[in-house]
Amino acid sequence: MPVPLVHVLVLGGTTEARRLAESLAAPAPGSPGSPGSPGSPGSPGSPGSPGSPGSPVPVPVPVQVRVTTSLAGRVSAPRLPPGDVRVGGFGGPDGLAAWIREHDVDALIDATHPFAATMSRNAAEAAAQAHVPLLALRRPGWVAQDGDRWHAVGSLTEAAELLPALGERVFLTTGRMGLAAFAGAALDDLWFLVRSVDAPEPPCPARMEVLLDRGPFTLEGEREIVRRHRLDVLVTKDSGGEATAPKLTAAREAGIPVVVVRRPPVPEGVPVARTPDEAVEWVRRL
Ligand code: NAP
Repeated sequence: MPVPLVHVLVLGGTTEARRLAESLAAPAPGSPGSPGSPGSPGSPGSPGSPGSPGSPVPVPVPVQVRVTTSLAGRVSAPRLPPGDVRVGGFGGPDGLAAWIREHDVDALIDATHPFAATMSRNAAEAAAQAHVPLLALRRPGWVAQDGDRWHAVGSLTEAAELLPALGERVFLTTGRMGLAAFAGAALDDLWFLVRSVDAPEPPCPARMEVLLDRGPFTLEGEREIVRRHRLDVLVTKDSGGEATAPKLTAAREAGIPVVVVRRPPVPEGVPVARTPDEAVEWVRRL
């Protein structure tokens, strides 16, 4: 029997989206050419294997996945995932729904950054319009540990309002978008070390130095940045991912406060996977 071809559109721009595309682009278990494909002895999809009457574990249907990753085009030299890649906005939810229909997309995975709230809303609306299943891939947020001095806020604006009470030399790691929140005259006495992948554009804080760099970052490197620039407060989004981040550990060790911007919620009714593996499993069970 031919293995069905499923076209998955991944809204990307994150490490998890790239890992997901890598997994989806690999031959599916049970598909031709994969190790243990149907017909090979003891393969997962072969008759008599799990899935036979009485088995508690449903066998994933072997599917061949065509994966297209969509990037916003914000980063000048992005790391490209395997599979097809398209770059640039769709023109709102209607544009995304039209793209889904025109390209015979069977499933949509919103693997954008937890703070890309507009795209996540668009994805929910477009999936409903185009009648395709939607999954959000969201890495877990960070959890404060003993010794952390975290101040949770709801937005970059709130973070900016809080800063003068916390320090004078700020390590701003929220990305180059949204720097306008820190450009107000109320913060003119503060000095900012702004770290971003690409150079920020005005409006920016009045007194700042830009550190162009892209993770992953090491604990040794983060300690050195905090020490060398005599930083006394860190601002970060709750991007999450690993259990903690080297910058959070470096801040804890240095005893400096951290302003953590809380995540916007995932649109209502959208199922969430925590890891690329969970998302692959969702595709297999569609
Ligand atoms: P956003 O505010 O939620 O989206 C703004 C617009 O950008 C969307 O309406 C859409 O344009 C376009 N867009 C966003 N993601 C897209 C994608 N994957 N493919 C095609 N178009 C996309 O997004 P953002 O916060 O600016 O983030 C942009 C990208 O950077 C996202 O892909 C995200 O994963 C990545 N990123 C964001 C952050 C962050 O902190 N926000 C951090 C790291 C990486 P149309 O309406 O025209 O379709």
